[in-house]
Amino acid sequence: MLEVSGLSKTYGEGARATHAIAELSFTVHEGEFVCVVGPSGCGKTTLLRCLAGLLPPSAGRVTLRGRPVSGPPEEVGFVFQEYSRSLMPWLSVRENIALPLRHKRLGRAERDRLVEEAVESVALTGFIDHYPWELSGGMQQRVAIARALAYQPEILLMDEPFASVDAQTRADLEDLLLRVRAAYGVTVVFVTHDIDEAVYLGQRIVVLTPPPTSVQEVLDVTLPEPRDQVETKELPEFAHLRAHIFRSIKRRQSLQGQGPG
Ligand code: ADP
Repeated sequence: MLEVSGLSKTYGEGARATHAIAELSFTVHEGEFVCVVGPSGCGKTTLLRCLAGLLPPSAGRVTLRGRPVSGPPEEVGFVFQEYSRSLMPWLSVRENIALPLRHKRLGRAERDRLVEEAVESVALTGFIDHYPWELSGGMQQRVAIARALAYQPEILLMDEPFASVDAQTRADLEDLLLRVRAAYGVTVVFVTHDIDEAVYLGQRIVVLTPPPTSVQEVLDVTLPEPRDQVETKELPEFAHLRAHIFRSIKRRQSLQGQGPG
């Protein structure tokens, strides 16, 4: 469905150039949940921006259903890390979620239905006429997820969306995401520096090297679904995968002289 081939991205020129991504190639299949994991600064945000058509790659290409991505495609929805900056404080939950739908030619009743269904799917029905600043961080991020879902994207791109909430809220949001993803049948590319989160959520994991970034390995996650915060994390396969990724990133960092100390 989504193909990244030979993607590279350099910011700036000459001596001041930053080679954020050296060369990346991977594929995302229809209906898959793919996690992209790598150390901070390895170009995860840069990669998502290229996938979203928000940033032109320096070389290589991204294709969605065989068509090159050159600007934000209609089929793509986003959830960013900074929920506080991504929601409009002067708009209610309902209005925030309806905002991107203006780009789709929908009747009023259809738009209201999509908004209300999405709000219900993230369990915020009682807060639909509240303003973002009246909600907790976790609730605001649920609004951002609902906004992306109401848009009915075929593919959802998520950039460390749960990085700035506390651990319990994060676990709840992870489970909520798995449930709504199954309900909406959407393909997800989820970027995180958190190895446990990648193993818990993903069906496949693309592990990135430290910069200049390329794909270190792609792993299949065959943990049973639905996942469970306690039972899944007790399974030997979970422990094995997280240890494998952790070691592989550390080994690479020390080879590239970027390890601590
Ligand atoms: P990650 O999301 O994995 O932390 P980023 O994609 O944010 O990584 O950044 C990768 C590298 O590119 C970093 O070295 C960062 O400093 C650099 N970078 C990111 N955005 C810009 C920009 N707009 N201009 C110059 N350098 C940038």
